[in-house]
Amino acid sequence: MANRKSKTLHFTETVASLRVNYIERLENFTPEIEELRKALVYGAPSSEEIKDFYQALHKFAGSGATFGFPDISQTARALETLLENILAASAGNENVQLKQAEILRQLAAFQYACATAISGGAPLESHEEILPQFAAQAPPRESKTVCILARPNLSAATNMAQQLKHFDYTVTLSEDAAAFAEAITTLHPHTLLIYSDLPPEDQEMLREVFSRHGEEASAAPQRIFISSRDDFAARIAAIRLGASGYLLQSADVLKIIDKIEALESKNARPSYHILIVDDDKILVEFYTEALRHAGMTVTAVRDPQQVLSVITEQVVDLILIDFNMPDCNGQELASLIRQYDKYLSLPIIFISGKEDVEELLINTGLGIDDFLIKPVTPHQLVSVVSGRTQRANELRGLMARDSFTGLLNHAHFLEILTAEQMKARRHPGDAAYAIIDLDHFKQINDRFGHAAGDQVIKGLARMLQQRLRRTDIIGRCGGEEFGIIMPDTTFEKAQGVLESLRVKFSELRYQVEGREIQVTFSGGIAQIGNYARVDDLVNAADKALYAAKSRGRNCIVAAR
Ligand code: GH3
Ligand code: MG
Ligand code: MG
Repeated sequence: MANRKSKTLHFTETVASLRVNYIERLENFTPEIEELRKALVYGAPSSEEIKDFYQALHKFAGSGATFGFPDISQTARALETLLENILAASAGNENVQLKQAEILRQLAAFQYACATAISGGAPLESHEEILPQFAAQAPPRESKTVCILARPNLSAATNMAQQLKHFDYTVTLSEDAAAFAEAITTLHPHTLLIYSDLPPEDQEMLREVFSRHGEEASAAPQRIFISSRDDFAARIAAIRLGASGYLLQSADVLKIIDKIEALESKNARPSYHILIVDDDKILVEFYTEALRHAGMTVTAVRDPQQVLSVITEQVVDLILIDFNMPDCNGQELASLIRQYDKYLSLPIIFISGKEDVEELLINTGLGIDDFLIKPVTPHQLVSVVSGRTQRANELRGLMARDSFTGLLNHAHFLEILTAEQMKARRHPGDAAYAIIDLDHFKQINDRFGHAAGDQVIKGLARMLQQRLRRTDIIGRCGGEEFGIIMPDTTFEKAQGVLESLRVKFSELRYQVEGREIQVTFSGGIAQIGNYARVDDLVNAADKALYAAKSRGRNCIVAAR
């Protein structure tokens, strides 16, 4: 036990608490620096005084950079060299006086670096020094902005640009590498679409453009190559230009959007809420620091009794528990959490010492998702925590979602609609519910095949996701029927949104085996707060949809 404690302490000290110590020592050193400065200004310090100062200074020079203060190391080293020269000359005052101005200048720089560190200056750089695994957050790229390099396939690219705009992407089309470079610099796009089969000189130019615009992985836009060739050489050439995706020219707009989004979600930084339970204050601080640095939100409690109130009052994505705590051990705490049905799938990770591992492995019935063995590096911590959280969230999402479109399934959608309807009764505000249904969809299936029909359904789902707000709720309510909830929206606004969706969708064209399909939908829309029960609301919207179909389809009717 003693051994474990000393190990974890050692580990912590090297990363977080020693840094605090360092700053404290620096503060205590401040009067000495001032003494030397005064001695230099008003007279001449003795070589004894210089020697003492030099020794103290040496320690700060050695460890400054380690704790995230490279300026201290640098200025201290310069000062050290000056003082060394003087001491080596072993002469007294004369030399000191000769060098006085230079020492004073260097001393001022050192004082400045110390003051900056003490007052908490440049905290971000310091974190990076301590947690080198995590790069600084990259400047945000403009999401939904796509730059296309059209050469040498202008017509296909122009068509693609047009289609992407229907899905609310901001698109620029460049015909040569120079214009492309310009667009990348000014727009900070999220994605580059490159119609490849580029001549070698263009490839060379692209390579140069990319190296100029930052190869830093998280800041650089994702590159998707679209090519007519499916051979090894062409794919390798794309990879050498940093391709993260490679699609064949036959890919339609939906395939491309799928790719853009798949890559995007892979790159997205998680914003999870993690609860840490550990009685060791220093470790809690360290874990918190590491997870926050990776973009997560952290709540830390040292008393296990506080856990229940935190998880009932806030949405927590994962709990990290110290296996060995004095009042209530990690196992007991995990069992207690699992007594509540609603927390059965909440991921729990233990942090334990080596000697507890066996016990942990035997106790598999606890529903522990993973464990980490001390000492835990920031990298291990972040990768295990974010991996587990992501998977749990994906699973939770799957259960409520329609696997084909990724939208909420009918049951889940109805649950939310019911809650919204009750809320609207309690706090009458503006909220709308709409139901839309594809027009003459049987004919589409009959003429073009079921697979083509499926593509259309997916396309509509995609468009709804893209064009509606994040706060809107979309469900797949039947094969080719979709429900939409628009909270906090006036009825006029909601009608306008639906109407513009209808127009956009009707302009979209799908390519199926060389043939173009054009599809429309009809919709019924109702104001949620107007109905006493959710059934009444659903019926009213259905009736309105029916009215839209009888009016000739491709239109929206409001329930009355
Ligand atoms: P209306 O304009 O009156 O809505 O005509 P409609 O042909 O769309 O008629 P209705 O809504 O009654 O029929 C829906 C059809 O949609 C039935 C089925 O063939 C087709 N459908 C339903 N679900 C799917 C699906 O998942 N994939 C495909 N390809 N077709 C589907
Ligand atoms: Mg239908
Ligand atoms: Mg239909």
